[in-house]
Amino acid sequence: MTGKRIDGKAFAANVRGQVAEHVARLKAEHGITPGLAVVLVGEDPASQVYVRNKGKQTVEVGMNSVEHRLDASTSEAELLALIERLNADPAINGILVQLPLPGHLNSDLVINTIDPAKDVDGFHISNVGLLGTGQKSMVPCTPLGCLMLLRDHFGSLSGRSAVVLGRSNIVGKPMFNLLLRDSCTVTVAHSRTRDIEAVCRQADIVVAAVGRPEMVTGDWLKPGAVVIDVGINRVPAPELGEGRHKIVGDCEFESCAKVAGAITPVPGGVGPMTIACLLANTLTACCRENGLPEPE
Ligand code: NDP
Repeated sequence: MTGKRIDGKAFAANVRGQVAEHVARLKAEHGITPGLAVVLVGEDPASQVYVRNKGKQTVEVGMNSVEHRLDASTSEAELLALIERLNADPAINGILVQLPLPGHLNSDLVINTIDPAKDVDGFHISNVGLLGTGQKSMVPCTPLGCLMLLRDHFGSLSGRSAVVLGRSNIVGKPMFNLLLRDSCTVTVAHSRTRDIEAVCRQADIVVAAVGRPEMVTGDWLKPGAVVIDVGINRVPAPELGEGRHKIVGDCEFESCAKVAGAITPVPGGVGPMTIACLLANTLTACCRENGLPEPE
């Protein structure tokens, strides 16, 4: 491998360490402990794992973690009433509703009921608008984590060409806005993009968020390009034994690493950054709520 492996796991541990230090200072100097509420509706196994990890890491950095696990049959009115209670609770600085929600619940309505100041996922329409217009907002955790890794690698991103593969509201679109805000020249590609390989080969930075296992191969890349692989795809792994699975990204690591200047692995790249940024956002929300200086 010629490309440098970007160690998201170590970077995330460092971010969590900084959050923990700041939380300790908030407690010692102001008697404030930030609180994060996570709401999980239903039994989706992947969501249960995410929620467990979020709760564990929230406590590890010294914050209060509150989990609300609701039955899959919970009505929209019940869920909205819970969110209103959390909005009004001064001990709660961040509210996260784990997506996807069961089909009978309107996700947009649910997310837009969260107080934008407590919307640590950055999905509320007000935060989306603020980010899109370059104003202070809550920034979605996964794209924020990608941005932190890129800034760490490059220093300034100004003038670099970036291609974002995927245009979802949770990754692709906010990633576009963040890279544009940092003065990249950004192209967003998606399932209707023509000759996507050629589009990709123009880029100094490739952020892959398509949910297609190992779609991007080394021949899609300009030599030296920096690749951020957001994808989390569970695929069969017969080499590990019958019926076993493994997690791969949207990029074929081996071939991409030979061409890339640097690349995030899956697992151990963007994934750990997402939770670290959730904790950082909760801390930011707490500081704003209390009129205290925000973390850098
Ligand atoms: P979505 O399914 O919401 O969006 C996928 C996007 O990829 C769409 O815009 C779609 O285009 C595009 N796309 C799909 N197939 C192709 C193709 N063949 N060529 C080009 N574009 C394509 O996914 P998410 O944004 O929610 O997630 C993307 C990936 O990131 C998933 O693997 C997910 O698991 C992972 N993820 C990881 C996180 C982390 O913490 N590391 C957090 C969130 C997501 P179109 O709009 O035209 O349909």
